[in-house]
Amino acid sequence: MEVLIGLEIHEQINTKSKLYCDCPTNYRDVSPNTNVCEICTGCPGAKPMPPNQDALDAVIAISLMLDCEVLTNRPVYIQRKHYDYPDLPSGYQRTSLPIGINGKVNGTRIREVHMEEDPGQYDPVSGIVDYNRSGVPLVEITTEPDLRSPEEARLFLRALYRILDFSGKAREEPGTLRVDANISMAGGARVEIKNINSVKGVYRALKYEITRQKSLLTRGEAVRRETRAYLESQMITVPMRTKELEADYRYIPDPDIFPLVIDSNKVEAIKASLPEAPHMREKRLIQQYGIAPLHAKVLTSELALADLFEAVAKKIDPKIAALWLRDKLKNVLNYYGIRCAESLLIPEHMIELLKLVQSGSITPETGEKLLQRMVKEPVSPLKLVEELKLTKIVEEKLLEEAITKAIAQNPQAVKDYLSGKSEALNFLMGRVMKITQSRADSKVVIQLLKQKLKR
Ligand code: ZN
Ligand code: MN
Repeated sequence: MEVLIGLEIHEQINTKSKLYCDCPTNYRDVSPNTNVCEICTGCPGAKPMPPNQDALDAVIAISLMLDCEVLTNRPVYIQRKHYDYPDLPSGYQRTSLPIGINGKVNGTRIREVHMEEDPGQYDPVSGIVDYNRSGVPLVEITTEPDLRSPEEARLFLRALYRILDFSGKAREEPGTLRVDANISMAGGARVEIKNINSVKGVYRALKYEITRQKSLLTRGEAVRRETRAYLESQMITVPMRTKELEADYRYIPDPDIFPLVIDSNKVEAIKASLPEAPHMREKRLIQQYGIAPLHAKVLTSELALADLFEAVAKKIDPKIAALWLRDKLKNVLNYYGIRCAESLLIPEHMIELLKLVQSGSITPETGEKLLQRMVKEPVSPLKLVEELKLTKIVEEKLLEEAITKAIAQNPQAVKDYLSGKSEALNFLMGRVMKITQSRADSKVVIQLLKQKLKR
């Protein structure tokens, strides 16, 4: 059965102030209902200011990076989209007509890109509404129904996010993503799934929905046209309401706001100053630094990681820098479940660390341990090494002591090794590293272990 999937993606734009007023956008850092004024709380009679120019420029830049045509020299109306919900004090959301059209990402067509305002935040359990988020600028990106499976949707979203990240225009904080997915199968009506907050969520919601629709259709039942909500905790979709028709939103041009007219010279200027697209950067890293294509792919998975790599590669052999950032740093970031942009690691400290490893002052194992701390606090590895006495053990006597101890404590492993189980040697080495707090050179330890066990 053929599956048609289209996505609508909302992402917050990184501006200092809101779209139609001067209130700041750092709604996460302040107490509820403090970043508000009569405009963003929809007080009767309050007139919006002209649209925030930074937000509009960002939407144009994003449109261009998504290979869209930007609609210039004609009026682009700001529409009022009406619906009733406690997070929307004016009763309508201001949403622009398309600014960019006919783009493409990874072979998936982008239908249009437009600008709108975020509503506030309503907690249906407590009944509390917080309008700090109300009026924060958003970009909405709509695809054609070109995606054929949850896996394709996932790959598309990853590619799209990489571009948004490299554009530098989207908000860095996680959890700003909101996706609605449209899905239909041969013989069934179009179903819209709302309120999905992660790429994983989109994948799971679509998987669930395909199974649900398939089983309805094979039983000869109808798939109704409706809007469903995705319940993250249960990984299922449930009916929300029968789909509103476009007419239910009673769109009208906002009489308080002049339509936008985007100057073609302005678009050319933005085009000339666009940041490097991720796929271009990936290619450049391979050429400029001679690193493996696979490394370049990982290093350009995130803007902050690519920037960190290039800063470090100024002082450290790029191949070694690539290896450390791709393997060891990525491991630490994955362990903490954070992105490079959220870590507190600075290039100077990474350079310091790699110099310590390269000069042989510390072992690579110690380097990895230090990295775990450096991601969480902006601390100089040189200072840590001095403070915690982490330099590599060079005294053979100390190594011998650790090895003798490991052998004495693990007679079974020694027996295994002597009876031909070579992996027992790695186990013993692990013990020695534990005893020395990873301050022993693992190659030397293996050598010494072999010698000792021969006797
Ligand atoms: Zn305001
Ligand atoms: Mn929208």
